[in-house]
Amino acid sequence: MTENNNLSGSLLQAILFAAEKHRDQRRKGADQAPYINHPIAVAEILWRVGEIRDEVTLQAAILHDTVEDTDTTLEELERLFGTEVRDVVMEATDDKSLPKAERKRLQVVHASHKSIRARAVKIADKISNLGDIIRTPPPDWTAKRICEYVLWSEQVVAGLRGYHPALEAAYDAVLAEAKKSVGL
Ligand code: ZN
Repeated sequence: MTENNNLSGSLLQAILFAAEKHRDQRRKGADQAPYINHPIAVAEILWRVGEIRDEVTLQAAILHDTVEDTDTTLEELERLFGTEVRDVVMEATDDKSLPKAERKRLQVVHASHKSIRARAVKIADKISNLGDIIRTPPPDWTAKRICEYVLWSEQVVAGLRGYHPALEAAYDAVLAEAKKSVGL
């Protein structure tokens, strides 16, 4: 019971922090959902599909886009959530000083060097993103761009495999759906 309470408390703390950081952001999809829906979805996928109960992984999932997409710093995450959470978020964060194409290339190159926790967060992230792109494609994305995204995401996940069979199977299911929907 105590353990459950600790987990709930630490997750709620992360959700509140991420919700405040992402408060003015919307998702790219046609429905312009509040950004926070996405990190919550990633954590929920880890919990339900991956059956992950590790506090660090779940907190990192909630926080995974805060450094990349808001003014949050790694120091701030370390102070509030500890070094382990900070490290997983860092592993899920692209280097924003690099051009977009290079960042995408590096995600593929670096995938096979990620920690087991970061792999889980990254696969769940790709499940969430691919699902969103099929359900509510960004209005300004061409069919070609969607195809490119689907194939790139497949390459990244290829490097993350081998540790989380249930998440990998869920990714494969959404990938098959995405490929079908774009005629790949
Ligand atoms: Zn994300």
